[in-house]
Amino acid sequence: MTHGNAPAAVPRSTLVVTAHAGDFVWRAGGAVALAASRGEKVTLACLTFGERGESAKAWREGRQLEEIKALRRDEAERAAAVLGAEVRFFDAGDYPLTETAELTDRLVGVYRATQPDVVLTHPAEDPYNGDHPAAHRMALQARILAQAVGYPGEGGVIGAPPVFCFEPHQPEMSGFRPEVLLDITEVWETKRAAMECLAAQRHLWDYYTDLAVRRGVQLRRNAGPNLGLAHTTLAEAYMRPYPQITKELA
Ligand SMILES: [Zn+2]
Repeated sequence: MTHGNAPAAVPRSTLVVTAHAGDFVWRAGGAVALAASRGEKVTLACLTFGERGESAKAWREGRQLEEIKALRRDEAERAAAVLGAEVRFFDAGDYPLTETAELTDRLVGVYRATQPDVVLTHPAEDPYNGDHPAAHRMALQARILAQAVGYPGEGGVIGAPPVFCFEPHQPEMSGFRPEVLLDITEVWETKRAAMECLAAQRHLWDYYTDLAVRRGVQLRRNAGPNLGLAHTTLAEAYMRPYPQITKELA
């Protein structure tokens, strides 16, 4: 981790790697808004627009591929602006998103340019959507390559930013355990406003509101009564593929 030694003038940096343009909103919008609200830098790397796999409404309306990509790009840019993050699109093509050395190398460049203190991406499993595990694999591989002094490219090598895997749409079927519960209550209105930018996936607005309520109940249960958390606590859940580093068990 670099933030402990970084000059005070350098804000902490978060990198979010997603398969599709909407993923960062549903799964990590609270974490993004929280970091941005603290004045931190958040970079969203969207490998595709989700134009084929996550834009069914637009296809049913008779729109064409390029029009749908533009529509999803516009939605994601507006959602990112609401959350306070910078978004970069790779336009790698979804359904399927193909894992390539070239795309991974482009991600290495983003790691080295942004020098993340924290990385968010999909978990390793998702039997309903192969693009998500592909993005996970490339996000982790790029992190490893970006750490290697001998790997060529612009920018300095990175440290070992902790990785948090956000919640998939079918958590039980994807082997997802809520190992980390993040309290997003204070930025909930921001996350909801970002969700409402994604008109192409309007059917998910209430689903992800309900999920935040459920994870909030679990957060309060695990926090215990002494913290005095409100019944209206809302949360996002994450998994950690690497060990937490600490000098104190807390
Ligand atoms: Zn997705």
